[in-house]
Amino acid sequence: MRRSNKKQIPSKNGIGKIEKVELHQHVDGSIPVDITWKLMKEHRLNPVATKKEMERLLVLQEGEEGALLRYLDKFHYPAWITQFYGNISYVVESIVKKAYQNGVRLLELRYAPIIHTFAGLTLRQTISSVLTGLNRAKRKYPIETGLIVIAMRHQGPHIAKILARQAIAEAQQFHERTGVIGFDVAGAERGNPARLFKEAFDIARSGNLGLTIHAGEDEGPEAIWEAVDILGARRIGHGCSAIKDKALMRRLAKDQVLVECCYTSNYQTGAVPMGAPHPIFTFLEYGIPIAICTDNTTVSNTDQIRENEKLSKWLTTAQLQEIHRKARAHSFIHATPNIRENLPPQHDLERPRFNHSKK
Ligand SMILES: [Zn+2]
Repeated sequence: MRRSNKKQIPSKNGIGKIEKVELHQHVDGSIPVDITWKLMKEHRLNPVATKKEMERLLVLQEGEEGALLRYLDKFHYPAWITQFYGNISYVVESIVKKAYQNGVRLLELRYAPIIHTFAGLTLRQTISSVLTGLNRAKRKYPIETGLIVIAMRHQGPHIAKILARQAIAEAQQFHERTGVIGFDVAGAERGNPARLFKEAFDIARSGNLGLTIHAGEDEGPEAIWEAVDILGARRIGHGCSAIKDKALMRRLAKDQVLVECCYTSNYQTGAVPMGAPHPIFTFLEYGIPIAICTDNTTVSNTDQIRENEKLSKWLTTAQLQEIHRKARAHSFIHATPNIRENLPPQHDLERPRFNHSKK
């Protein structure tokens, strides 16, 4: 049931009504401009005088598309305000609200905790600040949520191992409320091959976290082979270069490795050249599971409705609906049963195994 105060965004072809599954969305690239501006002003950090000027610094502009570095430059200012526990929870709540208004009913957010420790928050605090935001949002909107912890490639495999351990500490299976559901490695692929992160992925796997990785966005198919063969990734972020390798495409289909497709973002970063067809259609032809994802709603100036509307040029509303329905099965939210539910009944735990009181 829709509540009157949670307005739905208008859309074409009934796209707004599709129950959407979002599996690849970053916190720092998705903070609504209004919220960033409000926090900037509150903390007196605003580098420009007006919200309009601020928007140009946060959202990729016409003429800036086609280069990953120009895209990444937009993540500079959000980091100024997301160094504080309350701010992080607040921005996360606002992201969930927007997603809900776009018809998202299952939302996996992702986040690189280390980028939010510069003012003194510990890794654990930065993770729990996001979880607080997700839990608050969940009380207001009927939406399933979970958090994927990201290790940044350029910070190296050792830091990634530390992050994998921190991620396990807040894993959903140990909590009644929203927790960490997955682990990801993101950032510059060149010079930081996936295979170096094997130990971090082994740790995450040992904690029953779902495994995904940004691969094949800025590198060739070999990066995706490594992600699947060496790291055991069950999902691939972007994966654009996979279409260059038919054997890899068959492998992704055979093992049902889902590709998290980010249509708008891929053209903006240059992962897919302007004018070229998006690999999403070839993935579908091969029977590779896909998810329609926004990547960064603010930087990419998009949302779930816009992504689906863009794809509706080639796919019917029924096909889009089916993609979301199938993507749900690949969510990490339900992948691991809650460990608390699997504990033996309380009286079993309390029964003493030895009675030392009598002699
Ligand atoms: Zn991404």
